[in-house]
Amino acid sequence: MIEVSISEAFFIYLFISMTFVFILWALSEYRSRTRAVKVEVEETMVCEICLQSFVFNKHESIVKCTHCGSLNDVISG
Ligand SMILES: [Zn+2]
Repeated sequence: MIEVSISEAFFIYLFISMTFVFILWALSEYRSRTRAVKVEVEETMVCEICLQSFVFNKHESIVKCTHCGSLNDVISG
């Protein structure tokens, strides 16, 4: 069996605990940044048919109006 002193055992305990906390912090930071990117992608647009504004995804070229269901071209709108 491996013999370790009390100070070495305490150091190993602290190292594992701090590594666990660091991993949790890095995961929460990564999740919050990916959520922020999704918000930036969305924009508002006014429908050409019913003139109601709605939120759409910026990466789509043609979007469907959430009020009347008509298709709108992103470039002209
Ligand atoms: Zn519409």
